[in-house]
Amino acid sequence: MSRLSIVVWGENVHEHRNPKVGAIYPEGMHEAIAAGLRASGAGLEVSTATLQQPEHGLTTARLAATDVLVWWGHMAHGEVAEAIVDRVQARVLEGMGLIVLHSGHYSKIFKRLMGTTCSLTWREADERERLWVCNPGHPIAQGIDRCFELPAEEMYGEPFGIPAPDEQVFISWFEGGEVFRSGCCWHRGNGRIFYFRPGHETYPTYHDANVRRVIANAVRWAAPQGARWVDSCPNAKEPREKIGR
Ligand code: ZN
Repeated sequence: MSRLSIVVWGENVHEHRNPKVGAIYPEGMHEAIAAGLRASGAGLEVSTATLQQPEHGLTTARLAATDVLVWWGHMAHGEVAEAIVDRVQARVLEGMGLIVLHSGHYSKIFKRLMGTTCSLTWREADERERLWVCNPGHPIAQGIDRCFELPAEEMYGEPFGIPAPDEQVFISWFEGGEVFRSGCCWHRGNGRIFYFRPGHETYPTYHDANVRRVIANAVRWAAPQGARWVDSCPNAKEPREKIGR
């Protein structure tokens, strides 16, 4: 089997503006996420792309060769060019997998694919997060116990303005009492989408073994299934059978 081509896309802004974030992720958050994937076993060819690169590092040719795109963005969602959003959306509909992380809930591409507000409740108070597995048989939950904890994270709470997920893999509980649908799957066209909540930039979340395991499972789950479905809308002028009597 050929290796899956994975691109981890990072906005790459907080790392350069906030020394706390730069200290946790000296190579950038996208490189930490990519390192976790590279360490997860054979079968993945992992590279990174950032907002600052020409075409945000997501040229038509590169996306055409990408099996799964992982997306982390926050403060610069508005700087992502619409043409690139169109391009990523088209590739998801063809069959490319998309993993959207944390504040990517408000990215243009996630909102486009969901078609809803994608709003939520949030609080930054260094609170404990417990992620419960709701579907132990799901491929994305493999290797994870009944639940796992992150000692300090930003809180995300319901209501989360998403369409009902096709599959629910995790639900989070926070120390302050809120709960949140923190691991959700959808299908759009021929593509698979997974949203995974943890990963606020001021915490070392992408160095956590369980978080890395979930993302590694997710890219394998989201890999294209079968053939690419290239969009077309032909006029079937010539019927297969004779019409009428
Ligand atoms: Zn955050």
